[in-house]
Amino acid sequence: MGPVLNDLIKLQSVENRLRIVKSKLSRCRRNVILRENQVRSLQSALETKNEEIQLTRIQSDRLELELRGRDESIVKLRASLNITKTNKEYAAVLTQLNTTKADNSKIESQILDLMKDIETDEAECSDIQSQIDESKKILEETRKETETLSVKLQAEIEEIQVEWDEVASTIPGASLEIFKRVAETYDGEVLAIVSTPDEKGGAYSCGGCFMGVTAENVNLLMTKDDIIRCQNCTRILVLKESQE
Ligand SMILES: [Zn+2]
Repeated sequence: MGPVLNDLIKLQSVENRLRIVKSKLSRCRRNVILRENQVRSLQSALETKNEEIQLTRIQSDRLELELRGRDESIVKLRASLNITKTNKEYAAVLTQLNTTKADNSKIESQILDLMKDIETDEAECSDIQSQIDESKKILEETRKETETLSVKLQAEIEEIQVEWDEVASTIPGASLEIFKRVAETYDGEVLAIVSTPDEKGGAYSCGGCFMGVTAENVNLLMTKDDIIRCQNCTRILVLKESQE
């Protein structure tokens, strides 16, 4: 290997640091988005609960109204019970009166059930509201932390970028282009160290994809400064210092 490959090794190490800081930056920004989504989904849960409460209220109001009407008819039935002329008529009115009373108590217990539902839902609402308050507090803290951290990370990125540009300026254009392309494909992992066969024999292989590397290519790497790419994964092959 010669100066080009050695500079590529240097560039790889700067690239690694650059990617680490960049991913830190996007992770901390993502945190804010996650927190925002959390608040939003809690708010929509609260809205849904409030809508449910409203529907239950409408239902119970309707039943109350019906009950009032039925109470009136009970009063009327009682009055007509007193003016019945025959036993048969009396019995008929009495039956109607009892049926109406039974229906009314059924409606009353339905109303009570609905009231209980409302109470439960209201308790849930206040629970969700306190979760919203808590999440908003955390969101604000996360925002502040992220702002401070972003500034710091941004500065770090700029610093490393300067270093990257410096190293890159020493590398021939065509080689640099290959580096950039492979970096895009493998999330910055451009170089692959050729691994030496173990004592039992075996072949040289690419440290990136573990496929075989020909002895001829290893020989080229030892004697020349050419860019040799893995035939399988296309990463740029380099030797460990001990292999040179
Ligand atoms: Zn490979």
